Parts: sequence; structure tokens; C-alpha cells
Amino acid sequence: MRRSLVAANWKMHGSLTHIQDFVTDFSAVDNVDVVIFPPVVYLQAMASSLPMSIYCGVQDIGTSASGPHTGEVAAEMVFEVGGAWAIVGHSERRIDQSEMDDLVATKAAAAVRGGLHPIICVGESLAEREAGHEIAVVEGQLEAVLDRLDVAQLARGAIAYEPVWAIGTGRTASPQQAQEMHAFIRDKVAHVDEVVASQMRILYGGSVSPDNAAALFAEEDIDGGLVGGASLDAGEFSAIIAIAGVAATAD
Ligand code: PEP
Repeated sequence: MRRSLVAANWKMHGSLTHIQDFVTDFSAVDNVDVVIFPPVVYLQAMASSLPMSIYCGVQDIGTSASGPHTGEVAAEMVFEVGGAWAIVGHSERRIDQSEMDDLVATKAAAAVRGGLHPIICVGESLAEREAGHEIAVVEGQLEAVLDRLDVAQLARGAIAYEPVWAIGTGRTASPQQAQEMHAFIRDKVAHVDEVVASQMRILYGGSVSPDNAAALFAEEDIDGGLVGGASLDAGEFSAIIAIAGVAATAD
């Protein structure tokens, strides 16, 4: 059975004061893994304010271990200061920084090389879904990763299905839409390695809230969530973690 995983993507939000307030009101449950992704400058402050059982990570990483790459941060450096996870391929980076599938796959491999667990984001735009291309788009994003990453490493990390049209919009994929894509992703990985596919966690991301989390997490192939807006509020985020804990018990 897969352990649930709930992750908080703070994007470019937060401050030292916000972290202090957040940790005061935050609570987790024993049967759910939790990772928080603050802006990278707050990684150590966040990691040292939380219990050891709550992991921290970065929202992006560079591809090299070191070198003349101004502004980049290596996975090895993140690991050294207590980070354990890295998000790669978030749609905001794919769009804002023009990150293509190959670069995302290289970043996933770099995360693993540096000792981090990658959360690899995939997902289609609204236009792609309306054209009926969502499976083909996600398949292409996945194939780029499977070509470059040892499949066994996927079991160490997670894939996050984040339909772009649901991120920060308040519009959520229905549990059925999300389950259909999650099942496709698991099946695609199973063609390469069935054991990894059965162990690998697939998170849903896109306007997850305490109101919709139970229905999403009840789906067979949804192993938790990557939460943006609702993760900035300790009460809302803790409620989502508690819902994941209940869903895991019901499995
Ligand atoms: C995200 O940032 O990955 C995300 C899913 O954001 P939100 O929950 O706000 O849609």
C-alpha cells in the first residue's frame, strides 16, 4: 500500500513571520508524509522550525552540481542544508521560464543525483484539454522523464498531475477526470516497471482545498496532493493532511 503524501507549494509567498505563525498552527498526522516547499531563501528557517518528520524542499533546482551558473542552486546544496525534496516541471516554470520537457527531465535526474526526492509535475493546458489532447500531452511529458531517469528513481519521488487550468483558478478537475489521468500515468509507468508503478505516488494538484480533498483522495490512484494557495494557511493545510489521513485509513 502507498503512503499518502501531501505537499505545500508556497510559490513566491511567505516571510520569516509567516513561517513562525504557520508552524504554531500547523499539525500533521502519523500516516501521511508531508513536504513543505517555501521559497528557497526560507528553506533552512522552515526546516529548523518544523519537527524532523516534516520534510522541506525547493520549488526548482539547477541541473549542475556546481559551476559558473549565476543564480542557480544545486540539488547537492539543497540536500546539505536539510532539504529532502525538489519540485521540477511546475507549469509556472514551464510557462514563465519556457522550461521544456527535456530540461524538466534533466532536472529530475539532477535532483536524484543530489540526493533529493523529485516531484515531477505534468499536466495539460485548458486549450489542450478542450482539443482532447490531454492524454497525449501528459504522455509526452512523461516519456521525456522516462527516457532520462532510471525508472526505479520514480518510486523515490512522486509525479504530480496538475492540469494547468486548475492551478490557482479555484477550478478543480473532477475526481473522475483526475483519476482517469492518474490511472493513465500509472499504466504508462507500468509498461516500463510494474513494481515501480504500483509503489509510485501520484499527487493531484489544482485548487485542492478542505472542501474537495476528500472526494479527490478517495480515488484509487490519487495518493495525495500538491497544494498551492490553501497551503499558506496552516489551518487549511492541516485540514487537508487530516483528510488524506482518513482516506488512507479507509483504503
Ligand atoms: C500549485 O501551485 O502547484 C497548485 C496546485 O496551486 P493551487 O493549489 O493554488 O491551485
